[in-house]
Amino acid sequence: SGSYDIVIVGGGSAGIATAASILKRNSRLSLAIIEPSEVHYYQPGWTMVGADIFNLESTRRAEAQLIPQGATWIKASASGFAPDENKVLLCDGGSVSYRVLIACPGIKLDWDAIPGLRDTLGRNGVTSNYSYEFAAYTCRLVKELKGGRALFTQPVMPIKCAGAPQKAMYLSCSIWERAGVLKGIDVQFHTAGAALFGVPVYVPALMEYVERYGAHLNLESRLVSIDGPAKVATFEQKRGDELTQVEERFDMIHVVPPQTAPDFVRSSPLAAPSGFVEVDEATLRHPRYPNVFALGDACSASNAKTAAAARKQAPVVAVNALAALAGREPVADYDGYGSCPLTVEKGKIVLAEFGYGGKPLPSFPTWLIDGTRPSRLSWLLKDTILPPVYWHGMLKGREWMVKPHLIDR
Ligand code: FAD
Repeated sequence: SGSYDIVIVGGGSAGIATAASILKRNSRLSLAIIEPSEVHYYQPGWTMVGADIFNLESTRRAEAQLIPQGATWIKASASGFAPDENKVLLCDGGSVSYRVLIACPGIKLDWDAIPGLRDTLGRNGVTSNYSYEFAAYTCRLVKELKGGRALFTQPVMPIKCAGAPQKAMYLSCSIWERAGVLKGIDVQFHTAGAALFGVPVYVPALMEYVERYGAHLNLESRLVSIDGPAKVATFEQKRGDELTQVEERFDMIHVVPPQTAPDFVRSSPLAAPSGFVEVDEATLRHPRYPNVFALGDACSASNAKTAAAARKQAPVVAVNALAALAGREPVADYDGYGSCPLTVEKGKIVLAEFGYGGKPLPSFPTWLIDGTRPSRLSWLLKDTILPPVYWHGMLKGREWMVKPHLIDR
């Protein structure tokens, strides 16, 4: 309970970065972060944990250490929004009032949407890099597998880090290739989508790796159930106009769960038809509630849901929220930037960086990093540079990384 100038729902990548960016600009206003979790995760690190490159512990920090100085941490779960009363409702029955609301509670991982999945995760060769709990199990399975069949799945979009399902496959194959066992493993990628990656310019480089690893690409093939003890996965596949069910036996399977807007967002007045918090794609302001903003995985904008996107969105929302507090119109806009470092082999990355509509938005000149080709420098970025940039730059609201783009009026 209480009343604040600014209330932020969610203390993940987007929430902490935005809070820090706002307080850097104005440390006198009252700001609260509603966040139930004691732990904050660097989720982009889980792909690397699954391939034995990062240590699991390095991907988590105590939330208490990351809440910026000057912010109040309300350790509770939000259960709803009452934007007509400028209130966030809490699970414990309380509520918090705001002048400006920033919603960023992330995306829901819907493990229960796949019958049989939850019971067998972490056992029977069933794993997922989408969880702190199981990323290290991926690594163990990959190291132990010497032959048989390995399945990798991708659900219907949107999901966070659209490239992560295939990253898991490429890095596993890279490990098997080096161990000399790849030829004896039937690798299959099953995606619910009609293309390997949503932005076509990156597909040729990815297809080269699919071929090099001898992986079987199954488009429009959606995991619908899993029997862990029997080691059988069932896919619904599109064959012409018809949907058929196909069973595949596996020795290991890497599952990416279906993802949706969090239930309390979906059922709130802030939701777009998609269930995510409705925003104007440029200003990230709610079209019906001018004192409400949203960013990160929970917002309805059509960018790639990544921490890289949240890094660019945070200062835009920070300055627009401060403008709203002062009774002014938004002053900055967001171009849809998102980035997906596709780890195609140990030591090389295809660095996809693009904005709304798939428009390429490279951070580096082509002679340094050509995003459409595998690059060692991109690997160095992901492996060595980006984690400290995340912890010490983005989450501290340091502006040298991203200045918000100001709207020309
Ligand atoms: P999160 O960081 O998930 O934070 C949401 C926060 O909201 C959490 O702290 C949660 O506890 C809190 N919350 C939830 N419900 C409530 C509630 N009811 N009330 C209050 N708080 C609540 N991104 C990249 O840029 N590059 C990558 O290479 C990359 N790889 C990835 C690989 C994997 C395996 C995964 C899982 C993700 C990857 N991402 C990557 C995506 C990136 O992690 C997310 O896009 C990013 O964390 C989004 O930030 P967010 O703040 O919106 O959500």
